[in-house]
Amino acid sequence: MPELKDYFSIVPENVAYSSALNRSIVEELKRRYPFLVTGTIGNSVMGREIPYISIGTGKKQLFYSAAYHANEWITTPVLLKFVEDYARAYANDLSLGEAQAERLFEEYQLFVVPMVNPDGVDLVNGMLEVEGYLKQARQIAADYPQIPFPQGWKANINGVDLNLQFPAGWEKAREIKFAQGYTTPAPRDYVGSAPLTEPESIAVYEFTRVHDFLLILAYHTQGETIYWKYADYNPEKSYEIAQYFGRVSGYTVEETPAESGNAGYKDWFIQEYNRPGYTIEVGKGVNPLPLSQFPQIYRDNFGILLGGMLNI
Ligand SMILES: [Zn+2]
Repeated sequence: MPELKDYFSIVPENVAYSSALNRSIVEELKRRYPFLVTGTIGNSVMGREIPYISIGTGKKQLFYSAAYHANEWITTPVLLKFVEDYARAYANDLSLGEAQAERLFEEYQLFVVPMVNPDGVDLVNGMLEVEGYLKQARQIAADYPQIPFPQGWKANINGVDLNLQFPAGWEKAREIKFAQGYTTPAPRDYVGSAPLTEPESIAVYEFTRVHDFLLILAYHTQGETIYWKYADYNPEKSYEIAQYFGRVSGYTVEETPAESGNAGYKDWFIQEYNRPGYTIEVGKGVNPLPLSQFPQIYRDNFGILLGGMLNI
């Protein structure tokens, strides 16, 4: 992409993210690029807003979301930076990768939720200031001493894994996770008492139901892997698009392993709509991944984020 002289980026790549930072970046992007549409899809357990941004006026709707898992918050700036790059390209009549931003803008409406789990992210990054919730999280973590606290925390603040909350094989997920010992609220892998009990997963579910998304990407870390399949569903073009994503990112394209193959957002999306849905596992290492990986992660994923639009 052509560089603009004296351009100051809104999206920082060198600071730990919090729900407040996410919110203020969304507002700042909207101030600089008034053609963006912003709003909230709902509120977290602690009442924090879960903001969305949409860009474009086209008929084809897509949905990218990130940070379902607290210690996977590096995925938040990945989506924010993509929105910024796209908005800057559109505002300046430039291309975005190999595409004309203006054509994308007119053909697609891209919805982005950069941080599905604001309470969890704040917990992991030491920015949770409400003592009662912090105490509750410590108590939950104390039941699972093998998981480092707070770095190993993936769940929402109630100790429910937001990507095991969707009504697609939830009973199966429950059976598997209970057998693994996650039978109570936990830092990770607890499915909840039923599907869709948590406000964050409900918000994503409802937001999806009131739109007509042709394709979704759900961002996670880590493993440099693209998961494209749910059960025996085989949405049209789904495999081809997965192969395309694999080519442009260098990531491996795989079927979801059985032990994590149920109750995720992409699982439900594929089951409900029979349209392409992907879990993208970015980066490599131990969560939370260090920010030093960010530039590489963004480079690898730019083609996927753009390619979602180019392929549907
Ligand atoms: Zn994850």
